[in-house]
Amino acid sequence: MSKGLVVILSGASSVGKGQIRKMLLEDEELALIYSVSMTTRPKRKEEVDGKDYYFVTHKGFASAVKNRELLEYTEFNGYYYGTPKNQVEFLIEQDKNVLIEVEAQGVGPIKLNIPDALAFFIMPKSLEDLEKQLEKIYGDDTVSARNRLNKAKMDMELAPLFKNCFSNEDPKAAYLHIKEIILAELKRREE
Ligand code: 5GP
Repeated sequence: MSKGLVVILSGASSVGKGQIRKMLLEDEELALIYSVSMTTRPKRKEEVDGKDYYFVTHKGFASAVKNRELLEYTEFNGYYYGTPKNQVEFLIEQDKNVLIEVEAQGVGPIKLNIPDALAFFIMPKSLEDLEKQLEKIYGDDTVSARNRLNKAKMDMELAPLFKNCFSNEDPKAAYLHIKEIILAELKRREE
């Protein structure tokens, strides 16, 4: 049986990957299924458990790590995030194409497990721009804004390792570029 394609969407933290992710997931031609991550971060008001994340306790996350249930995981801003292995493996075995969104350090471990995964890196227009965006999102919570900015700087150091880097300046253009590359890869696999 042929296997589904794994697409990894990564980039500097808080760079606005969500908007590009939404366009990719809504594109019926790509037929991508979102890999829902597990996190210990508290649920935001607009988020839905099982759709945006599986929100778990610290103990639940530790048990998933201990039982090797995650393809990769990371600690960020005091919370844990990880990609459930079973879900991704099940989908690709069913010949489904899967979209995984992770911060930059998560890409290496996924590629080790799934070497033919296609990885994309989203860059901010500039660090100043990202800083402004973070101030807007986090308002008085300057600690979170600072942590995310520092993480974004670390993430961006990994950008040169990616073949496919796009700016978030024009999310629609980034989505179209990514779509083109995914379709070319799917076509190549059919041949
Ligand atoms: P947020 O708290 O804003 O939802 O996510 C914070 C960061 O964690 C984002 O950069 C997001 O891409 C990343 N992230 C979400 N899920 C995972 C995951 O399963 N693994 C890793 N490594 N990063 C993740």
